[in-house]
Amino acid sequence: MKKITLALVIFLGVAACKTNPFTGKKVLNFYPNSQVFPTAFAQYDQFLTENNVVENTSDAKMITKVGQRISSAAERWLVANGYPGYLKDYKWEYNLVKDETVNAWCMPGGKIVFYTGILPITQSETGVAVVMGHEVAHALADHGAQRMSAGTLQQVGAVAGNVVIQDPNKLNIFNQAYGVGTNVLGMLPFSRSHETEADRIGLQIMAIAGYNPDEAAELWKRMKANSGGEAPPEFMSTHPSNDTRIANLTEWAPAAKQEAAKFGVTKYY
Ligand SMILES: [Zn+2]
Repeated sequence: MKKITLALVIFLGVAACKTNPFTGKKVLNFYPNSQVFPTAFAQYDQFLTENNVVENTSDAKMITKVGQRISSAAERWLVANGYPGYLKDYKWEYNLVKDETVNAWCMPGGKIVFYTGILPITQSETGVAVVMGHEVAHALADHGAQRMSAGTLQQVGAVAGNVVIQDPNKLNIFNQAYGVGTNVLGMLPFSRSHETEADRIGLQIMAIAGYNPDEAAELWKRMKANSGGEAPPEFMSTHPSNDTRIANLTEWAPAAKQEAAKFGVTKYY
């Protein structure tokens, strides 16, 4: 029995490795966009109907503007690096939701929510760009599908071969990864390495979008001061601690500026 499980796990692992264009690393992902995105889009729409979406205020417009700039910067980077069709299934959307929770999140395929509660911390458009870059980076790097894949592997381990990839429990696996509809905050955390990766990719694309990457560390200092050391739920999974995060972002900012310069960006908003 154990042998079968191990063989299946190895098979799944080999069959499901994809390369992340941003890091060049092979990652485990059983779930193609065509399986994950429709579920994500439906869950996102449901979330929006059940929550208080802010429309047509200057804050709401700013969230959309920053999101569009960041995703278009990601597109430019992908085209320049030989991945022109990478975003073809993405349907970017950026919504501001009235909720005092200090948080923001992104579902697969580019479905982003900011809560109004995070705006006193982001403070400026550039602060929003820091968080937006991080969230867009999760979507670009398929972190959600990887999290679902990890959940599937656990199940395979648990039920010894009784799990087929395309099983009707797919929605359960999705919901376990996202917990959307009822409780986004209850979702499985991203791993520490996913958080660090999202910070790094996010910094790069915010710079290409024209936002000063030096502000990223400043945002995290405010986050730390605000929360008495505790980050908001999407970020707190995570152990890059606030201090590690601030140190990393400070260290990486010059490289992000160099990358932006390749795209002709040398001045920031
Ligand atoms: Zn994150």
